[in-house]
Amino acid sequence: MCSCPIIRNVSRRNKALKTSILPPLLFWNKIGANEEVRGSWMPELPDVEIQRRYLERTSKGQRIEDVLVRDDYILRGFPEGGLKTAIKGRCILAGIRHGKYLFAKLDSDDYLLFHFGMDGGLAYLKTADYEPTYSRVVICFENGCSLSYVSLRKLGQMGIVHNVDQFIRNKGLGPDALSVGCLTLTKALAKSNAAAKAVLMNQRTVAGIGNIYADEILFQSHINPRSQFGTLSEHKLATVFWTMRDILETAIRLEADSRRFPDSWIIHHRHPGARCPRCRACIVRTKISGRTTYYCSECQK
Ligand SMILES: [Zn+2]
Repeated sequence: MCSCPIIRNVSRRNKALKTSILPPLLFWNKIGANEEVRGSWMPELPDVEIQRRYLERTSKGQRIEDVLVRDDYILRGFPEGGLKTAIKGRCILAGIRHGKYLFAKLDSDDYLLFHFGMDGGLAYLKTADYEPTYSRVVICFENGCSLSYVSLRKLGQMGIVHNVDQFIRNKGLGPDALSVGCLTLTKALAKSNAAAKAVLMNQRTVAGIGNIYADEILFQSHINPRSQFGTLSEHKLATVFWTMRDILETAIRLEADSRRFPDSWIIHHRHPGARCPRCRACIVRTKISGRTTYYCSECQK
């Protein structure tokens, strides 16, 4: 083996990646050849759903032998000893998602909680001699494989939850954006009096929508992000619901890989000088609720 530690690490990384089930795009950019970070794209519902499927595909049915906490900041005050006691010897039975939160159901009364913050995600490796850069917690399975929680900026969270429903209530989360019914959502939207974009991003209204998908839903629904849902017709609000469902399902089908999203989506036009893919008007860039917002002032009245 080469004596240079950098070359040795690269060699280990390449070997680990070759022999492992590759993680979703969300983090592939971070542990890939260039060790890149994906900017400030905060994981939203489709990204977390892809993580849930990845968790089930790689770790479901596996028994946990040990857990290595590399940085307890990610536990947000939850005791490291409590985490180890709760999950060592346990088996992961299923992944459950609500909005942007992911829960791994254990074969006990507990759930392992994941929130991915701005840049977090999971990486499953079939080797014990390599950990991805920025691994904060490593779950080691009896079969010799491991699941790492990876995050550069440490804005996410891991921990143990005893009651998911209670956790959701305590967080004040609304219904999940892919589970909420049309009537429930349209009633909530009709009662709101903030800017439409702010309402969609408010996790108390509906859980899972963030900056990127709120812009997309409003663009495809032809609604100005500063308008109020309460002034719109029931039919228009129902359009928001069905558009939201279609966008989220399409994004999940495309593995939340924005490069594969349809050309007609505004997500491809979030840059200076961009033109509306529908009417070719200049895309407007502004701030709503402190978040950078893109919309077409011609199509979105
Ligand atoms: Zn337009």
